Amino acid sequence: MSALLGIDYGGTRTKLLLVDSGTQEVLDRRSVPTGRLAALADAVREVTTDRSVSRFGLTIAGTLDPGTGVVGRSTNMPWLDGLAPAAGLAEQVGIPGVAVQDGTAMAIAEATLGAGRDARDVFVIALGTGVAGAHVVDGEVRAGAHGGAGEIGHVAVGAPHTCSCGQVGCLETLIGGGQLGRRWEQERAGAQAPASSTATARDVVMAAEAGDRAAQAVLARATDGLARAILQASALLDPGVIVVGGGLARSPRWTVHPAVEAAGRAATFHRLPEIRTAALGVWAGAYGAMLAADTAAAGSPPSDSGAAPSTRFTAS
Ligand SMILES: [Zn+2]
Repeated sequence: MSALLGIDYGGTRTKLLLVDSGTQEVLDRRSVPTGRLAALADAVREVTTDRSVSRFGLTIAGTLDPGTGVVGRSTNMPWLDGLAPAAGLAEQVGIPGVAVQDGTAMAIAEATLGAGRDARDVFVIALGTGVAGAHVVDGEVRAGAHGGAGEIGHVAVGAPHTCSCGQVGCLETLIGGGQLGRRWEQERAGAQAPASSTATARDVVMAAEAGDRAAQAVLARATDGLARAILQASALLDPGVIVVGGGLARSPRWTVHPAVEAAGRAATFHRLPEIRTAALGVWAGAYGAMLAADTAAAGSPPSDSGAAPSTRFTAS
């Protein structure tokens, strides 16, 4: 029986997940430092030795043209700009492949194999450096008429800060990993706060755990903002489950749990869905890439953004 390979091509680490397409058994999984396409091809050859692999899926951390598989812009991996990485890798390793945007891959995996696997209508929120979202219905991302749906990081939640997008009040200005450190500095130093901060989101969570009042206040405002965004998503989309993932969701005591409580207190007419912490952790992207490969292998058009995966797999 042949295998499917999911590749999560991240800014610092690349995760490879090899799954038997018949038994769905995970045959191999490994995480290697990210290199350029030639190094990635070596890693693929190593993991696929002696095995027949029918197709790979490759996540792209950046904008992707779904028709051509060409990367528009990748902030963390600028050498991919203008390239069609899945086609290039396919040529080097002799296995056909398909590209999928990383947020889409993570969302499809969590919705179909992870925390939302028992629900048909799932909204996935990823709390990373930025805040991303995707509405997944029956295993398919609802990308909208222009591919721009799901931007929950840029819904206004009443914050006083100007966002990188130009709007004032975005959720991302409160809970984006790139913003939390800055908010913490501001909370501690007021007007004297430096213009940028080297503190990471993890630093803020650890300080909050150690009893730092400023860090706790910053996280309380961030989770209040997340609760408001969850209410807006519920009012507009009425999902059956909301899954919250990404780095910050790994400290649910300071992020997901208070947001769930705040949303419950603030809800009026809303039919609040069950809000769950993501289940696949750092492997979500690789599972999503594998599902994109499976969809393409099943003969569906190899869509790069809204791939509807089969749901015959389970995560292990
Ligand atoms: Zn914004």
